[in-house]
Amino acid sequence: MGDASTYDAIIIGGGPGGLTAGLYLARAGKKTLLLEQTLLGGQIAQTNHVENYPGFPDGITGRELIELFQRQAVRFGLEIQFGRVDGLTLDGEWKQVSVSGFPFRSRVVVIATGLIQRLGIPGEEEFLGRGVSYCATCDGALYRQRPVAVVGGSEWAMEEAHFLTRFAQPLYLVVPGSGVKRSSPLREEVLDHPAVEVVAGARPVEILGDAAGVQSLRVHAEGQTELRDLSVEGVFICAGKKHPGTGFLGELLDTDEGGYLRVDECCETPLPGVYAVGDVRRHRFHQVGTAVGDGTIAGMDALRHLKKTGG
Ligand SMILES: Cc1cc2nc3c(=O)[nH]c(=O)nc-3n(C[C@H](O)[C@H](O)[C@H](O)COP(=O)(O)OP(=O)(O)OC[C@H]3O[C@@H](n4cnc5c(N)ncnc54)[C@H](O)[C@@H]3O)c2cc1C
Repeated sequence: MGDASTYDAIIIGGGPGGLTAGLYLARAGKKTLLLEQTLLGGQIAQTNHVENYPGFPDGITGRELIELFQRQAVRFGLEIQFGRVDGLTLDGEWKQVSVSGFPFRSRVVVIATGLIQRLGIPGEEEFLGRGVSYCATCDGALYRQRPVAVVGGSEWAMEEAHFLTRFAQPLYLVVPGSGVKRSSPLREEVLDHPAVEVVAGARPVEILGDAAGVQSLRVHAEGQTELRDLSVEGVFICAGKKHPGTGFLGELLDTDEGGYLRVDECCETPLPGVYAVGDVRRHRFHQVGTAVGDGTIAGMDALRHLKKTGG
């Protein structure tokens, strides 16, 4: 098994947990592949203010932090490819990981697929990456002078909307309840921006479009019988439920009542050589630091597993 698609270790997910496991394995000289379905960075790439990750006393943006993680791991030989993992065989010494039917093999698999946020409305999955986004800093620049909607009324939603005012025209802010409080300078700036229209008391019900991508967001306003279609090309979702990113695993691995993967103190699942790190396994606190800790432990324990199995 020495062909190009055979590795010592394969990591699924390019957030902080996956990139850390990749750093440890690659630095130990193991041929390691990281597979990421969208852009590197995971959830932390969504924020412009990381102030609690040690080593950056003045803070750092999530994107910059991830670029440093990436540079460090790639310097030691971590290979990164983009694609969504949609098939797996995890029992036995050699595991198989497939992306769009193309198989890769390895003795170690690290699952670092984090948390997935979904509103759960029709069209959301269908237009993911074709108009539906969860990250303005990743995708915002694609919407220069184009109409978008931001869904949500949280601080996160306001940050995303604030970033998007650089590009989008118009920008609908779809918020529950009576509207957005003017409780910070950032909120004031968003609300006073000429491109922003607040659609208050509205619940998104469907994302509509065609083969080219999103064409509108259908909303139901409180107390109204008529639905309103907002003509937009982008829908930035900052609301809804988060759940562990385990859908692609089917019944292959045991999860707890919240859907989190079960692991031992070395982040190893009940299947030898298969690890789960970061937000995809239960943590009391979901943070970059906890994901990095898991990636470290799994990366080091995976070296022990490789040694034991002759890798
Ligand atoms: C808005 C926001 C702000 C935050 N701010 C902070 C902060 O200031 N400080 C802090 O410490 N933490 C913060 N967090 C939490 C932190 O981002 C997470 O705890 C951390 O990113 C978890 O890392 P992870 O590697 O486990 O997973 P994630 O970051 O979720 O990364 C998982 C990756 O796996 C990929 N993936 C999923 N499924 C597949 C598949 N089938 N195939 C291929 N790839 C796949 C995803 O695309 C994603 O890139 C914040 C989170 C959010 C949402």
